[in-house]
Amino acid sequence: MTDIRDEVRAGFAETFGYEPSGLWSAPGRVNLIGEHTDYNEGFVLPFAINRRTILALGLRSDRMLRIASSFADELVELDLSELDTDNLHGWSAYPLGVAWALGEHGADLAAVPGFDIFIDSDVPVGAGLSSSAAIESAVALALNDVWHLGLDRRTLARVGQLAENKAVGAPTGIMDQSASLLGETDSAVFLDCRTLESEVVDLGFAAAGLELLIIDTGVSHSHATGGYADRRASCELGAKLLGVTSLREVTVDDLPRAREVLDEVTFRRVRHIVTENERVLDTVRTLREKGPRAIGDLLDASHRSMRDDFEISVPELDLAVETATMNGALGARMTGGGFGGAAIALVPTDAVSRLQVAIDGAFAEHGFGQPDTFVVSAAKGASRD
Ligand code: ADP
Ligand code: MG
Repeated sequence: MTDIRDEVRAGFAETFGYEPSGLWSAPGRVNLIGEHTDYNEGFVLPFAINRRTILALGLRSDRMLRIASSFADELVELDLSELDTDNLHGWSAYPLGVAWALGEHGADLAAVPGFDIFIDSDVPVGAGLSSSAAIESAVALALNDVWHLGLDRRTLARVGQLAENKAVGAPTGIMDQSASLLGETDSAVFLDCRTLESEVVDLGFAAAGLELLIIDTGVSHSHATGGYADRRASCELGAKLLGVTSLREVTVDDLPRAREVLDEVTFRRVRHIVTENERVLDTVRTLREKGPRAIGDLLDASHRSMRDDFEISVPELDLAVETATMNGALGARMTGGGFGGAAIALVPTDAVSRLQVAIDGAFAEHGFGQPDTFVVSAAKGASRD
């Protein structure tokens, strides 16, 4: 099998007619627990996965930006002097948006040289594994190096988020970029989305004989924009009616009062966020005190909360989770923003293939399209390769 690094080098040479000066890469991520808590200033626990977006870069002597990807059949060109959010469209808004966002974080875009970039990736796009953060983080790290910006990884995460918010126009939080930039092998990134403080937490899956199985339902979450915005609005409304700046400030003890103040739907949205924050903290504590075999119930409870209170699951995700828990998984939940995408299951190594067969069978029985199931491991964050 050819290494993806050789392919990206060859892709660069074929597209631009010379050899690149370096390769950078950044991983996708999966969120172990803590869903929709990021924009409520709460807690999340994602980890970087062993699927990466790799880019080859060559600096230019002029001010042109040229960018190509194995993902798209076009070469996008833009002069640095025209780099503005209004001029960025489609897939190239992610990488070129990062170049723009670096300007917002102190890079002197009037002085830096142009570049050629070729991108390749084995992060599935649109599966909830954040191919978007992978591409942003790889570009951010590469440009930070070649433009000698000296920004730290936390700042680069904010650069990626700014690109996604302003150049792409997706109102996403800081979780994905943080995982992609701060992740470490066999560890998760425990992130406080209010202070942006983060800690690396040992997962110990391999030592405990566990695998993390991704079940990509293939149900596209690209129509989720409306649902995502709607859930955000509910959370903002709940916070306003409860007199707090964010739901981070609401605890489980406040829920009886919240039930009196809020309408039934808003209450359930709030209850998901409040209990999910608690579950993230419990998961971190459990990992440290008892190890990964003990976190299964927390994953299960997270799924029920998203299904019943936040109402962002779909039948395919519920089936994946149910089939996993009935066939040897210690715990399972949908992951990502919802309305499609993937579920995760924590599975003893010797039960993985049996579970995959069971899931395929259950999906066929329900007349659902065949899901893509694969194991991921917790990998290191963005790197120069
Ligand atoms: P997710 O992050 O869950 O995979 P998003 O919708 O947030 O899904 O981001 C996917 C988009 O990011 C793609 O539609 C494309 O525009 C861009 N993208 C991701 N990976 C690449 C890549 N390797 N090359 C070009 N564009 C990419
Ligand atoms: Mg994304």
